[in-house]
Amino acid sequence: MTWQQRITTALDKRRAEQAFRTRIVGECDAAGFIHQGVRYRNFSGNDYLGLSRHPAIVQAWQQGAQRYGVGSGGSGHVTGFHQAHHQLEQTLAQWLGYPRALLFISGFSANQAVISALMQKEDWIIADRLSHASLLEAASLSPATLRRFHHNDVDALKTLLEKPLQGQQLVVTEGVFSMDGDCAPLAEIAAAKHNALLMVDDAHGIGVLGEDGRGSCAAAGVKPDILVVTFGKAFGLSGAAVLCSEDIADYLLQFARHLIYSTAMPPAQAYALQTAVAVIQQAEAQRATLRRHIAYFRSQMAGIPLSLAASTTAIQPIIVGDNHHTLHLAARLRERGMWISAIRPPTVPPGSARLRVTLSAAHDERDIDALLEALYDVTRQ
Ligand SMILES: *Cc1c(COP(=O)(O)O)cnc(C)c1O
Repeated sequence: MTWQQRITTALDKRRAEQAFRTRIVGECDAAGFIHQGVRYRNFSGNDYLGLSRHPAIVQAWQQGAQRYGVGSGGSGHVTGFHQAHHQLEQTLAQWLGYPRALLFISGFSANQAVISALMQKEDWIIADRLSHASLLEAASLSPATLRRFHHNDVDALKTLLEKPLQGQQLVVTEGVFSMDGDCAPLAEIAAAKHNALLMVDDAHGIGVLGEDGRGSCAAAGVKPDILVVTFGKAFGLSGAAVLCSEDIADYLLQFARHLIYSTAMPPAQAYALQTAVAVIQQAEAQRATLRRHIAYFRSQMAGIPLSLAASTTAIQPIIVGDNHHTLHLAARLRERGMWISAIRPPTVPPGSARLRVTLSAAHDERDIDALLEALYDVTRQ
């Protein structure tokens, strides 16, 4: 097969499966998505607390850019590690109760860095089978063996952990699952892990759950060996941090290539994130609004013949199954002014295509009512 044939065959297959992905030019404002001059109500975002346009955070980024310029100028290992990064790492470590925090440019790179730096050939990565692509991809690229356990099944995890092994074991899960919205049984997993290291990716829990928004682990009273938090969701910015012990942090600084061979985040962004942490700590009103929206949406969905997943978080997926039907529903909802993504395999397991509804504190009751009305309408066509 030539290169050209290989590429067109793959594209044709994607199209035939109704799984072809395209990007859409648009702009998010608080609870809306503007596309080709039309404003839709946005139920696809991850800006759970509505902070992406928070005036104090926007102002901090502007101030940071004025003071420090727009780029870091290098890897953190050379000249790119600024006082703003150092302070943010200390603030995060203190807030989340860890000796150390290390900043990364994204959650994707943080997950790749941790797994590729830690894992060796004789080791096992024992991961929930619905873990995020960045985790599973890092695991399958690493020399270690990837063992996936049935979603949230602690007994299945225990069975894998009991296998005698030459090397070490890393248990991987998420606080809140990104495509399902359900939470991992973190306390049971932490109790079961024995000598394994536990790594929890809390991209969707940080800022939203737990006291002061400390996330899923704080809510469950668990302190994993490695906690990954990301700033592209509830924080409303982007970037990530790994929370860990002194020794693991020092080890990552030696061996995590994503840190060493990559330009550090702009110090202005770290400065804005510092303000975002302070805003998140005080965001109890936004968290309460979000909880109210979730409860209201779920109670009203009881009267609509659609299959809502069992989730208590801002991610409220409606499982449809068939790709074509999911796309059809998303298009009908769009005609009614609702922006909701149709999530299809391979992002989710085959036969479980879904409308991934996400709620935000930036929505108001009218937004939720409009969504419910639109969902009701499309089931009657
Ligand atoms: C979004 C997400 C990531 C990736 O984080 P980015 O900062 O967007 O790269 C990692 N893990 C989970 C569970 C996510 O939802």
